Amino acid sequence: MRPLAMISAAASERVNLFGLERAALETLVQEMGSKPFRARQLMHWLYKRGEGRIAEMTDLAKDFRLQLEARCEVRTPEIVAVHTSDDGTRKWLLKADAAQAFEMVFIPEPDRGTLCISSQVGCALDCSFCSTGQEGFNRNLTTAEIVGQVWLAKRELGEGKQTGLPGERIVSNVVLMGMGEPLANFRAVVPALRIFLDDFGFDLSRRRVTLSTSGLAPQIYKLAQEVNCALAVSLHAPDDELRSELVPINKKHPIAELLDACWHYIDEQNGRSVTFEYVMLAGINDSCNQARALAALLKGHPAKVNLIPFNPFPGTPYRRSAPEVIESFRDELVGRGVLATIRRTRGEDIDAACGQLAGRVIDRTTARLGGKLMSVAVQP
Ligand code: SAH
Ligand code: SF4
Repeated sequence: MRPLAMISAAASERVNLFGLERAALETLVQEMGSKPFRARQLMHWLYKRGEGRIAEMTDLAKDFRLQLEARCEVRTPEIVAVHTSDDGTRKWLLKADAAQAFEMVFIPEPDRGTLCISSQVGCALDCSFCSTGQEGFNRNLTTAEIVGQVWLAKRELGEGKQTGLPGERIVSNVVLMGMGEPLANFRAVVPALRIFLDDFGFDLSRRRVTLSTSGLAPQIYKLAQEVNCALAVSLHAPDDELRSELVPINKKHPIAELLDACWHYIDEQNGRSVTFEYVMLAGINDSCNQARALAALLKGHPAKVNLIPFNPFPGTPYRRSAPEVIESFRDELVGRGVLATIRRTRGEDIDAACGQLAGRVIDRTTARLGGKLMSVAVQP
């Protein structure tokens, strides 16, 4: 049996099966002269049984397996480093290419296991309080790299191995809240979401797959037509002036335009509500008046607010709001009829909390990335 890493090294020209949603896989197997149902069998092996070795997919005809091996590969991102927090949160540093890496985090809770995955290496949107944004943009992840994260995490966490029952889920929820802006990588993200939701894929319910966006309003309309998953929107301020400072994309798509897109999304999808993320920055966006203004924006709409205590990173000028300030902010919202919760911060000791994911330049050479000269020379 060859380990996956070996398969990957030998097969860079081949089609990575993790990059193909069901329709594309059906086309591929038909091109190879097989019936479309072979695609579903293949998906069953990949996603239900967690089998990455084509040779081991024993109910596929031998000829078909040989053909598949000649044209395709099953390749996940490579693990560069793993860190486990005192609270059980686990963070993987994954290799994107020779010089760049990105991160993925698993957060175990009593009633669920949430995997936070990345959609880009770095991010171009430059939010002032986000460590990923400060790093600049490197490149989009491919569909295979996005799907491969979930597959890899399940394997690393031993999903299905404890009782041997295929139904046992360690990863029950997937959130696109790691590095990157998923709607800026729309073409790769949509097929990945379809694989997460597909009965023959990871078979997650639409409420357990969440895409978080900083507010690319036109893409929210497009997403509503393409796929049915939960939507989280990073709002962070109740007025355009402050929001444009914190989330620069607001200058292009201001709050009113963004909220219209959100309500459209919920109508179109028959969804329950949009979650609005709001990072709590001391003295910046955490006053009672700002809570009232936020309540006025959202009241009467299908919305809930998730308050995120700011997670600091080296060089940031921001500070986290005090716990009692965050609680008063929540109470003000709830008192005005807007559902609000406070996110428990996890994995802080390993820099795995929201907004702390920065990836790494793996080698010590200076790389020219996305038009910016970057020299983040940190060894894993
Ligand atoms: N680009 C997407 C998804 C990735 S960021 C987005 O912006 O929504 C996931 C969440 O972490 C967002 O709500 C983001 O605003 C928040 N975040 C970023 N930096 C943070 C920090 N330093 N502390 C707390 N939350 C942060
Ligand atoms: Fe990008 Fe999201 Fe960070 Fe903003 S908060 S820089 S959109 S990853």
